[in-house]
Amino acid sequence: MKNLDDLLSEGVRGRRVLVRADLNVPLDGEKITDDGRVRASLPTIRKLSDAGARVVVTAHLGRPKGEPDPKFSLAPVAGRLGELLGADVALAADLVGDSAKSVVAGLTDGSVALLENVRFDARETSKDDAERGALADELAALVGPDAAFVSDGFGVVHRKQASVYDVAKRLPAYAGGLVLAEVEVLRTLTGDPKRPYAVVLGGSKVSDKLGVIQALLPKVDKLLIGGGMAYTFLAAQGHNVGTSLLQEDQIESTKQLLAEHGDKLVLPVDVVVADRFAAEAERRVVAADAIPADWMGLDIGPRSVELFAGILREARTVFWNGPAGVFEFPAFADGTRGVAQAIVDSDAFSVVGGGDSAAAVRTLGLPEDGFSHISTGGGASLEYLEGKDLPGVAVLEGER
Ligand code: ADP
Ligand code: MG
Repeated sequence: MKNLDDLLSEGVRGRRVLVRADLNVPLDGEKITDDGRVRASLPTIRKLSDAGARVVVTAHLGRPKGEPDPKFSLAPVAGRLGELLGADVALAADLVGDSAKSVVAGLTDGSVALLENVRFDARETSKDDAERGALADELAALVGPDAAFVSDGFGVVHRKQASVYDVAKRLPAYAGGLVLAEVEVLRTLTGDPKRPYAVVLGGSKVSDKLGVIQALLPKVDKLLIGGGMAYTFLAAQGHNVGTSLLQEDQIESTKQLLAEHGDKLVLPVDVVVADRFAAEAERRVVAADAIPADWMGLDIGPRSVELFAGILREARTVFWNGPAGVFEFPAFADGTRGVAQAIVDSDAFSVVGGGDSAAAVRTLGLPEDGFSHISTGGGASLEYLEGKDLPGVAVLEGER
């Protein structure tokens, strides 16, 4: 796989470079509430700009319906990117139209421009190869015959989309620094991780993560289950889970997992229950097999945190995906904080994957440098660990 350094050594001064970045930040109105992804995209963009490239960045924001929608404009991102770079970032009003053409024509050596939300064009995410191909042709034409493509949006490499996959077949394509780093970290986890290797999974739905649980169980020493999915496991063990999140249709497959890998699976021994789903709900700690009928589990309890922390402290490799509880409510954040703190305290090579998990690290005030790697792509890292091909990476490895 050719990477950014290969491109830089070919020389990029004056050359147009199209960069697919992941700038999909959470917004509150026009205010960015967590700029982690913009900051993670900065090193690649800055290296290209410092080397004199004319950098054209393409990215998506949110899930617009394949047509322009001001709610999903990248304008706040262009502003933030400019602040962090210390240089103006021109935002084109469209993707491949007149505005984009004039912004690209106006680029000088080392300057950076951003194209408007790539998902304003329905062809970006089309299942039809020809439709995506047509958009990729237009993107390639926008930057011209001598241009290069740098794929640096790790959060989207599991998607076969025009600006991720198809454009890489039309321009000389290179992995950006972020994609390269993410893939290297994931290879460490799937290759020969130092043992004990412990994985903590949480979040809301078992069905989202059943695939990764199945793929990981043979490879890990311990798999700790927290979050909303824990209740499907507790139900599979025959316990009442009250009004907790429960996926009835997953109970059978969960029973099977427990029967086959019961020695590796670690479930909460106590939980924090609430009388309703609200920040100010009434709160109680109960044993995991004694959840009252009208109560719902919103966090793992203190004895579970101790149990999990003991395993995490001994581990030499840790992967964590999915909060242990509804950390957005401060009264139900202790479990997630406890798990995260135990990972920070361990000497393990530790990887955090998942948008909400990464946000939890930051909002709960844990040191980001307490983890070896915080992945910018939850879905992409899970699919990789599941053993699935990432089209946006495979296309960089293959022949053009
Ligand atoms: P990630 O983005 O890190 O992959 P997910 O998207 O799978 O994580 O899940 C995150 C969500 O799971 C959070 O919004 C959190 O509130 C929710 N969650 C965690 N524990 C519970 C629970 N016990 N009941 C309901 N939701 C939960
Ligand atoms: Mg999430």
